[in-house]
Amino acid sequence: GVMTHPDTARVFDAIAAHGGTARFVGGIVRDALLKRDLIDVDIACDLKPEETVIALEKAGLKVIPTGLKYGTVTAITDASAYEITTLRIDVTTDGRHAEVAFTDSWLGDARRRDFTFNALYCDLDGTIYDPFDGETDLREGRVRFIGIAEDRIEEDYLRILRFFRFQAWFGRPPLDPIGAEACRKGAQGLRDISPERIRDEMFKLLRSRSPAATIKEMIGFNVLPVILPDLADTPRLRMMEWLDSTALADSAIKPDPLRRLAALYRAPENADDDLQAATEFGRALRLSNDEADRFAAMISNANLISADLSEDTIRRDLYRIGPDAFRDAVLIAWAARAAIPPRASGAENRDWQALLQAATDWVDVKMPIQGRDLLAAGLVTAGPTMGWLLKMAEEYWIANAFAPGREELMNYLAAQNAAKLQE
Ligand code: ATP
Ligand code: MG
Repeated sequence: GVMTHPDTARVFDAIAAHGGTARFVGGIVRDALLKRDLIDVDIACDLKPEETVIALEKAGLKVIPTGLKYGTVTAITDASAYEITTLRIDVTTDGRHAEVAFTDSWLGDARRRDFTFNALYCDLDGTIYDPFDGETDLREGRVRFIGIAEDRIEEDYLRILRFFRFQAWFGRPPLDPIGAEACRKGAQGLRDISPERIRDEMFKLLRSRSPAATIKEMIGFNVLPVILPDLADTPRLRMMEWLDSTALADSAIKPDPLRRLAALYRAPENADDDLQAATEFGRALRLSNDEADRFAAMISNANLISADLSEDTIRRDLYRIGPDAFRDAVLIAWAARAAIPPRASGAENRDWQALLQAATDWVDVKMPIQGRDLLAAGLVTAGPTMGWLLKMAEEYWIANAFAPGREELMNYLAAQNAAKLQE
């Protein structure tokens, strides 16, 4: 992996040649121990940022001074980008941004980090430095703040969400009670955290294997009501739990943070959440335009779905919105149905299952005739009649399960046109 790549050794060697020490730090060490995929390479280093730049340039590496003021420079190689940050301590903070000072102390740098397993350091040769016994916490699935949890939260309220996010990723119940209580106490501070940071943490949480249990804790400790007040209720949570258990049982359904969010958003008992409101919710949460559109479409499409759809309607919907959007809508609608008693019968659940199967079996189809076919056949010259005839042909084609080919459709239209002209 990237930790043993020759480019990585070049970065470490460049710093050593300049009299400094570099160590991997934070997420990369944690994720390597968890055997997760490694994405960011964070390196801590005891050279001052300007010295780091000189050291890297002397070794012929490409350097970008990404955040000199905060001590971070980035080295770019073919293998990866390396964020190299000078050892720091936080001097003051307003609960959102810290003012930092550089230090020579590895322990000082470790103390400003949030959780014990995020303060792991590692040499190029694999030696691990673990000042707060984070490896044990990691192994035992314990998310534990470094220092006094309440104080650490007051320094940066986003840590509340990080606490739950790491819990969802690899924590084992029960939550660390001290940390969880501190989160409850500090939850109001999340009001001052930017929506973008909240979005990023929430999406990381929603990407975990099975987030519903953690979302439940976030409701219990009064954290979710602060950031997503409309979403923090039990029936919605049941939708999400149900969605996860269904999705986990079916390998064709990939876990999907946006769909999970939609399951939380859509009220089970109320089927007329409209497109407009869903779009606004997405915007407020700072979703990208594409995500906000897909989110709103899930909500509104779900309103069209029920277990007793006719073959004809299923076909139409699949043709109109495509199999992925159809599957999303079925899952949300099914989850909503499952969230309010009485339980669906076995037969009804088989109907839902059949809807998912229809999405899986769907083969893309293309309308066999187009405007120019009508022109060539002399059926129309152009204009509104053309659109109207094409629409009619399409209806006929869909109603006949996409079986009619070009010739049948042309004959059908010729007959319709003749009848129309006789009127
Ligand atoms: P991810 O997998 O999302 O990258 P991460 O823990 O690596 O998780 P980063 O934002 O990449 O998160 O941060 C790298 C390291 O910086 C963390 O492991 C942690 O040591 C420290 N860190 C990040 N955010 C905070 C924070 N809000 N408070 C304290 N330390 C933090
Ligand atoms: Mg990281």
